[in-house]
Formats: sequence, C-alpha cells, structure tokens
Amino acid sequence: MWYSAAPVKRSTAPLFVFDSHCDVALAMLDQGVDIGRKQRRTHFDLHRAQAGGIGAQFFALFADPTEVRGAGAWRRTRALLAAVERAAAAHPQRLSLVRTASAIQRQRAEGRLAGLLGMEGAHGFGTRSSDLLLSRLAWLAKQGLRYLGLTWNNSNVLAGAAVDGGGGLTSLGRRVVRECHRLGILVDISHSSDATVRDVLSCSKKPIIASHSNARALCDVPRNLPDDLLRAIGRRGGVVSINFFPGFLSKRVADALEVRYSLWAPGVERLAERYKDDLEQRRRAQVRLIRRSIRGVPRATLAQVVDHVSHVARVAGIHAVGLGADFDGMLLTPDGLADASAYPALARALSRKFSAREVQGIMGENLLRVVAEVE
Ligand SMILES: [Zn+2]
Repeated sequence: MWYSAAPVKRSTAPLFVFDSHCDVALAMLDQGVDIGRKQRRTHFDLHRAQAGGIGAQFFALFADPTEVRGAGAWRRTRALLAAVERAAAAHPQRLSLVRTASAIQRQRAEGRLAGLLGMEGAHGFGTRSSDLLLSRLAWLAKQGLRYLGLTWNNSNVLAGAAVDGGGGLTSLGRRVVRECHRLGILVDISHSSDATVRDVLSCSKKPIIASHSNARALCDVPRNLPDDLLRAIGRRGGVVSINFFPGFLSKRVADALEVRYSLWAPGVERLAERYKDDLEQRRRAQVRLIRRSIRGVPRATLAQVVDHVSHVARVAGIHAVGLGADFDGMLLTPDGLADASAYPALARALSRKFSAREVQGIMGENLLRVVAEVE
C-alpha cells in the first residue's frame, strides 16, 4: 500500500497521531512478536508507527473472557502489561511508556513513540470482590494505566455491555468510575451499553472517551454510538475515537459478517473442545476458520472512516473526534488503511474537508487534551 510520512501540507506542523486503541500486545505476548522489527503478522510495529506519524499510542490490555476467567484473567492482564513493558525496555530509543500529557510532549520532541496503557473490560481484574477489584485498579494505576474500558462484549460486575443486552452501571461500577477519576484514569465506554454510557455521564463531571467506537447513524450496530450519546460526550469535553473495523464502518459489511458469524460459531465451538488443552493451537485454528469464512465480504473504505469522522464532528463537535483504529484487533481492514503506516493518507483525505488545525485535532490533539484534563 502506498503511503508517505510527509507532513499533510508543507505549511503545517508534522503529523502527530495519537491513537487510542491497538491490540498488538496480544501478538507480542502469544506469538513473541517484536514490534521493534518490521512485522508481516501484525498491523502495528514501531517502524510502521513512525511512518504513520504516530506520536502516542494506547496499548490495550485485553484478557479474552472466552479463553480465561477469574484468576486466569488477572494473570493474563498482568502478562500483557509485562509484554508491553518488555518492548519498551528492549527499544528505549524508540518507545517509552508514559502516563502524562507532558511526558507525551517530551517524547514527541525527542521523536520517540509515547506508549500508554488502557484496559479493555473490567473482567480482566479477574474478581467479583469490590475490595480486591479496587486494589487491583490502584495497582494498575501505579503501573501507568490511563484508561479503563468498563466492558468488552460481556457485561460484568461493573457495567452492561453493548452486545449482550446488559443494563447500566452497577453500584460498584459507579464507585469505580469515581475512583478512576480520582486516580487519573480515563473512563472508556467503547463496548458498553447505551444505559452504561448514560449512567457514566450522570455520575461524573469529567470528560470520558470512547477509545474505538463509531456513529450508529451511519452504521446501525450496537457497538456504535447513537447521536444523543455522541452529543452528550462532546458536551462533556470528551472524545470519540473512530474505529477502522469494517463491520463498524459499513452496515453492508456488518450484515455480511452477521451471516457468517452464525455459520462459523459451531466451528469455533468444536475447535474450543478439540484444543481445550492447547490455547495457542485453538487460536491459530480459529483465525484460519474465520479468515476462510470472511472471504467475499464487501470492502469498507478510507472514505467511510472520513464519513464517521465528519458525522461525529457535526454532532458532538470538532473537538470531540479522535482515532482508535483497533489495529491487531481485527482480521479485516478498510481499503486504504491497511496498517499503522496509513494515517498520513487519512490526514490527507481529512484535509479536503477540514482545516489544518481541525485535522491536527482529529489525528491526536483532541485526545491529548482529554488525557491532560484527567490526570
Ligand atoms: Zn474492542
């Protein structure tokens, strides 16, 4: 795919991308991927991040609840954290883990990628005990955690998820939202139910983020946000980061995937049974099965990412749009946005609709502002 690391326009500052969601830590931990080397297996590595103008990147800590639960989920969360820390230790000239906006600016001045930590789903704490959960949250805050995604696709002890018919925040959920803000951790409502988002907005005055979510008005799936919630997040000074997953960009793609999900689900169950003692084999067989079944799914495009950016800008405000590509968390990517090196192409497309300053906001400055506000 063609790309250029050149600035968007000669007259503007070099591109600064701050992306709020990447799942490459899974590949680092499970497949021993070294992001310091050019990779073929992942969407993200430090080489392509630099070509893409990425100055700051949130790495997601995601314990898949279909694989691990309870103590196993907490072990997995810590192992993912350790994998990101090892990468920073192995490449100190290129990647530095930070937690503050000022530290991001320092790394930016020195041309180093600022890495930040986000957690995807409170099931990753691996406990239903409120005391234990709060102490694990405090421990992760000390390790540098900067956002907590309340749920993944599964409702949990804190909140209801978007896709499993869950309700809103529980009383522990309300407590954790307040505790996150006290500890300087952003609350991330991507994957959460509409009721959860409303509850979070009503129990806190601080800005919140959706680290990787799109506009439901353009692609009607539960994972995307309706206009009233986009507006409310924008009014509160928060940011909605646009996800590149084709199934959240285009309803046509979402419908085609929906048909295939129902076809591959029994196969996935059979693989879980066959490889119940070998998680790595199971994952590989599962990826092969899904890759086979998504052949022929219609393509989404970079232009559709621009459409979601434009919609969120119109409804929530230009200050409320960001990017959270979800690289390495999806098997399909849109045409024109194949990997972490593709952001300059997106910036060029956005510059046809928005001013240079607005493009800078969308690409990273808006998210940086919110990170600075909740510290
Ligand atoms: Zn996700």
